[in-house]
Amino acid sequence: MKITKVEGFIVQVPIRRPIEDSIHQVPVWGVPGVRISTDEGITGTGYTGTHARGDDLIVGAIERYYGPVLLGRNPLHVKEIWQDLYMGPLRWIGRSGISQMAQSAIDIALWDVIAKSQDKPLWQVLGASKTGPIPTYNTDAGWLNWTEEELVSDMLRLVDQGWRAIKMKVGKPSQHEDVRRVAVVREALGDQIDLMVDANTIWDLNTAVTTARLLEPFHLKWLEEPLHPDDISGHARLANATSIPLAVGESIYSKYLFREYMSQGAVGYVQVDVTRVGGITEWLEVAATAATFGLPVIPHHGDMMQVHQHVVAATRNAPMLEYIPWILDLFVDPVDVREGMLYLPDRPGASTEMRPEAFARYRVV
Ligand code: MG
Repeated sequence: MKITKVEGFIVQVPIRRPIEDSIHQVPVWGVPGVRISTDEGITGTGYTGTHARGDDLIVGAIERYYGPVLLGRNPLHVKEIWQDLYMGPLRWIGRSGISQMAQSAIDIALWDVIAKSQDKPLWQVLGASKTGPIPTYNTDAGWLNWTEEELVSDMLRLVDQGWRAIKMKVGKPSQHEDVRRVAVVREALGDQIDLMVDANTIWDLNTAVTTARLLEPFHLKWLEEPLHPDDISGHARLANATSIPLAVGESIYSKYLFREYMSQGAVGYVQVDVTRVGGITEWLEVAATAATFGLPVIPHHGDMMQVHQHVVAATRNAPMLEYIPWILDLFVDPVDVREGMLYLPDRPGASTEMRPEAFARYRVV
């Protein structure tokens, strides 16, 4: 099998109710990606996720720099290709961000080809560690621009729909407002629902330590991205100063940085994302490293779960998935989540194939 064509695309899907966290306002979800065709008639699709800014740069990296490396190669040699891309044309100007997101989209497309060539869903090709329904937590009710009333009503609706774990944003200008919002939500949810909070890297160490201590009475499952993602020793100091486990990963683009977080005791939940870390190939290495530290992997979902359902099913130390339902409409085989539980797909591939009508409607390039 040989790669015959590499085509980039950009799809952008409006979010029904624009959301905010401590550092972003997001009205549209960007889906820059790639279709890789082969001489055996199998086409793979891969993509990453953005706030619909910089999508042209990611697709430019795919088409202009990585595409020529791919033509004529055998997709089954995915790990060799990964290394050639990583050491290749863009290494000197970037090992994170745009170049790594472009590499992620390509790697996902190659694994989609591999699974389709074996006529199996990717989770079976990778080797399943579980087959039954997988619990998910819901992120779509706790945005920072929701009022306290909206937070409570949205979260109670999710509990009614079956979710047993929910995440909310923190990082308001006043830490006391954050604490009040968490208190109101915990009061409404009772103590049977897991609650996580996410600061999206807004705090400095002092703010993080004092806020975390104020939040401890609300028995949170984790505190996500409290500090700048490059500040590993800061996370280690915070982890020593609070009983709340820390969660990081969506802003980390290298297995070496993940290993540093783990070895310094700076992370409790590893949120490595296939759409950022370099795809499935690198994700599996990070997950395996986490296993050696006894750490759970609960990924961030730049792909909105389509790909992560496969890698989580194939990873023993990955107990749960995040659920954000913004782009389900795009896919031929959207994730099947009922009452907070995900049911694994039967269709061959990585669940990345898009419906032609939806692709045409949302495509911008
Ligand atoms: Mg986050």
